[in-house]
Order: sequence, then C-alpha cells, then structure tokens
Amino acid sequence: MILDYLDGNCPSDIETDLCIIGAGAAGICIARAFMGTRVNVCLIESGGLHGEAATQSLYAGTYDGLPVDPANSRMRAFGGSCNLWGGGCIALGVQDMQPREWVPHSGWPVSYQELEPYYLRARTYCGIESHAFTNGTFTTRLKHPPLAFDPAKLTHQTFIRTSTFFGSSYRHELEAATNIQVLLHANLLELITPANASAVSGARIGTLAGKHGEVRARYYVLACGGIENARLLLLSDSTAQSGLGNERDLVGRYFMDHPRGKLGTLFTDIPDRLMRPYDRELGRGPAPPFPEICLSDQAQREHRLLNGRVRPFPVGGQTPKGVQAVRDLRARWRKHPNARSETQDLEERICASLDYPGSVRQDNMSRTPEGTGKLALRMGLGAGDIAKAMGRRLSHKPAVRSQHFDVVGYFEQAPNPDSRITLSQERDALDQRKVHVQWKLTDLDMYTYREAGKLFGQELARVGRGRFEPEPWLRANSGVSPNIVGTAHHMGTTRMAEHAADGVVDPQCRVHGVDNLYVAGSSVFPTAGWAFPTFSVIALSMRLADHLNNRMHDLMMFIG
Ligand SMILES: Cc1cc2nc3c(=O)[nH]c(=O)nc-3n(C[C@H](O)[C@H](O)[C@H](O)COP(=O)(O)OP(=O)(O)OC[C@H]3O[C@@H](n4cnc5c(N)ncnc54)[C@H](O)[C@@H]3O)c2cc1C
Repeated sequence: MILDYLDGNCPSDIETDLCIIGAGAAGICIARAFMGTRVNVCLIESGGLHGEAATQSLYAGTYDGLPVDPANSRMRAFGGSCNLWGGGCIALGVQDMQPREWVPHSGWPVSYQELEPYYLRARTYCGIESHAFTNGTFTTRLKHPPLAFDPAKLTHQTFIRTSTFFGSSYRHELEAATNIQVLLHANLLELITPANASAVSGARIGTLAGKHGEVRARYYVLACGGIENARLLLLSDSTAQSGLGNERDLVGRYFMDHPRGKLGTLFTDIPDRLMRPYDRELGRGPAPPFPEICLSDQAQREHRLLNGRVRPFPVGGQTPKGVQAVRDLRARWRKHPNARSETQDLEERICASLDYPGSVRQDNMSRTPEGTGKLALRMGLGAGDIAKAMGRRLSHKPAVRSQHFDVVGYFEQAPNPDSRITLSQERDALDQRKVHVQWKLTDLDMYTYREAGKLFGQELARVGRGRFEPEPWLRANSGVSPNIVGTAHHMGTTRMAEHAADGVVDPQCRVHGVDNLYVAGSSVFPTAGWAFPTFSVIALSMRLADHLNNRMHDLMMFIG
C-alpha cells in the first residue's frame, strides 16, 4: 500500500521487518522482491508521486572544482532520478570489474561471473528480457551494421534503450501489495545506533511540515542515490561521531561520475553512412538496441587507459526548426506523459542544467522549458522541414544531413580518494547539513583523454574516409582548461571492498562493522567502466534482495 506520511491518520512510528530508504530504481527493486512474502517492508520516500520544488530543494548543496550541481543533477521524488533517465541499459564488462595494475584502487570483490545471473534477471525489471547479452554488451542484431574499426583498437558494445520508468511502471503493484508500506513525504534524518554503533536500532524520519517519528526494523537498506547515501551516513553521527560506517574516513570519498567532453571534430565524405548506425532517432519499438564506439580491452591494456566510448553528434547543418520542435515534443512525451506542471518545470530545470555550452547534450533531453501549445505552433510553422526529414528517414538516413561531427567522449573515472563529498555548515529546510561536492580528476584521467582522443580520432578518420581535428585542450601542456563536465551518474562514495580498511561496504553491500545496515546503488561501485550505471545498480539490488531474503528466512526459522 502507499501511504502519505503527511496524512494525520498515518502513524508516526512504524515497526517492520525490512526498512528500505529511498524509492528509486534500487529501492523499488528490493521492495518488489519481497511482495507476497511473510516479510513486512516499509519503503521510506522523501518525495511524493511527482516532483515538488520544496522536496527537491532538500538536494541543494555546493561544489568546488569541476561542476556538479547536487540540486539539479538528480530527482527527489518517487521513482528517483530515473524519472528523468535516458533509459540506457548495459552491463559492466569482465575487465571493468577486475583489478588493473595501471588503475589505482581498481578491482571489485565481486566478479562479473557472480553478477551475471542478476544481470539476466535485471532485464525483466527493465522490460528488456528479450535481449540476450554477454560480457558488457547486448547481442541483439543491429538494423544498421556499425563501422568496421580495427578490433585491437576500438570495439562496439550494444546497449538497449528501455522505455520503462520504475516509479510509474511499478507503483500500482506496490499499491496493491499488502505486506509493503510505501511512506511518501517521509525523509530519513538519521539512522540511530546504540553506543557501540554495531547495529541500527531505528530510522528517525520527518516531514517538511514538522511531523517526526521512527521506523524500527530488523534490517535497513539505504537506497538514496550516489551522493545522498554518503550524506545520510555522515549525518548519522549522534553515536558514531564521524558518521556511521566512517571510522576510517572513507564515507564520501572516491566520488566518481562519467566525465564527458568534446574530443574533436570529424570531417567526412560519408556522413550518412557514418551516422546511421549510431543515430538514436532511428531506434524503433519500446526497447531498441544501439551500438557504442568503445576502446577495446586490448587498447586499454596496451596504452594503460581507463575505459571510454565516443558518440558522433552531427553539427554541419543547423537543425531545421520544425525538426527540432518534433524532437522536443517527443522528448517531453517520453519523459513525463501525464506529468503535472510543477513536475515538468522541475524536470526541465534539471535537464537544462545538465546541458552545457557547445553542441553536446544528454540523450533525449528537451532544450527549453515551454508549453505544449508553443511546441505545436513551432511544428506547424516547420511543416516543410518535417516533410523533408521524413523523406530522409524513409531511406534510413539521419533527418538532417551534416558534413562534420562533434566527437564526444564519455569516460570511466579513476577512483580517487580526494574526489569526495562532505557536509557543509549550511542547513536545509529539515535542519540537516547540506552536501558539499569536490569532484576531482587525476593525471590518469587526463592522460586517458589525450591518448584515447588520438585512438578514436585516427580510427574514425580512417573508417570515415575523412579527417579528425582534436580539441586544443587535449594537447599535452596546451594550457587550455579541460572541457569536462559530468553525466549525472554519481558513484563510488560508499565503495565496496573485502576489508573495512579499503571500503565502506562488504561484498554483500553490508556496511562494514554495522550488522544490519546495507547500501544499494551506484555509491557501492569501486570502479564504473563507461557503462550507464543503473542496470548494474539493479543487478546488485537483486543480489542484495536474495541475501536479505536468506538472512530473514534464517532468522524466522530461528525464532519460529
Ligand atoms: C538526466 C539523467 C539521465 C540519466 N540517464 C541514465 C541512463 O540512460 N542510463 C542509466 O543507467 N542511468 C542514467 N541516469 C542515472 C540514473 O538515474 C541513476 O543511476 C539511478 O537513478 C540510480 O537509482 P537509485 O535508486 O540508486 O537512486 P535514485 O534514483 O537517486 O533514488 C533515490 C531515492 O531516494 C529518495 N531519497 C533521497 N533522500 C532521501 C531521504 N533522506 N529520505 C527518504 N528518501 C530519500 C529520493 O527521493 C529518490 O526517490 C540518469 C540520470 C539523470 C539525472
């Protein structure tokens, strides 16, 4: 059932078996795993069913160094940031999870082979169960064969773009589940522990309207996203004074994103052939496959590089106004078919802030906040452009012909203890200290951009029968600042490690030293490849749900 904690009839204190905090992709996935079982679950969610400005402002914080705006790079509502996601699903590869001697702090304590059965199951949750995959790529046949690169240098990995939004897809199931209580507008304020902080005894919660209470459970799962999981552990400091699970000052460290930036410009004589396989506009059906142009495992090893991929963005011709209007409208429908205007404003603000000057944009993002009426008018005025674009589409060509492409790189980030989130002295409307983000790259990151830029550039120029002009910032000692921004994939802040000296959670995602507290989400990733994170978040959540189910089962057998 779904309850609103703001409702006067909703009890302040709740007793349950499993308390999950955060109803995003991870939290909903774990709650669903217990539907129809004897285990009672309370799923605490800060937001309502739709985006609300007051709740969203609880995500506000500060940053220095490279830009990460904590207020506008995630969404605080039922369904989490996946209310905005591009739907890209792909698994990490075998090498991504192995220790690589050229990448400091690399290596998961869980192997790809151990995660693979959960990736298989994660497909159903994402609505992409008909697609087979192996080692970091889906194997679905592509409609348009990708370019033939030298496989020692570049390879293709295929991802699936799902149209599943977890909040709207699974809301009704949760509503109907009698053993699941979803508590909307309930914010975790602190995890309470006894004097030795070896277990959590309660979750202190509150609303923006001033109601307070406690959820008491046998087990707790923190599933609040890559930044907030660490913030909440640091805020749980009444007993453990440096924050829960933070005896070794590791909570919040190793913060990673997928850095992206324009690597150069590709001029080619075969623009349609080059673009066709990679054109996201040509995807058909609810879950189309798309190839990504990636560094091969061999090239990463030989050149001692982090993982990375590139996407060509056509820039030669101005996108005709009518075509742009159709794209904006499609992006809006895809993101929030029935959304209220407060949600729309919020989503558009977040998407706009993730954009950055130049031609590079996040996948599937609308450009400007404007009404549907205005969009329809723009489409009407651009009817001629639309007819021409449809003609090109019918012959499987990109809607707009371009002579050159921005080549944009998306990279794995080197784990870095100095890249971190901490608490600032400023407070939010719940009187909680806000987050401060210091997103920092290392020499290995910069070296990777330069060397990978050359590899991608040379191969694209060769296969595209053209010329690649690298960006000035990629030249060693150019003195030009790197043109790098994030991708809103927040990871690493509660990293997984076999031993407490090296990480915050153990291989089962349990906080080292705290018996009944687990963390779900990309904050547990020790390294992240270039892969979009959510498919791995879901696989790990399913694995965690199995583990909790076993622990719960043993406990129930024990107490009869
Ligand atoms: C614009 C955009 C596009 C993206 N596109 C992709 C993509 O194509 N592919 C991909 O793999 N990933 C993508 N991502 C990343 C993806 O959204 C995240 O990986 C995913 O949302 C992580 O899920 P989660 O459940 O761990 O965390 P979240 O989605 O962050 O969910 C956390 C939940 O916790 C709640 N919460 C927070 N604090 C509290 C509190 N104190 N008390 C109670 N509840 C709380 C929040 O309201 C939220 O519902 C994208 C992200 C953005 C912003």
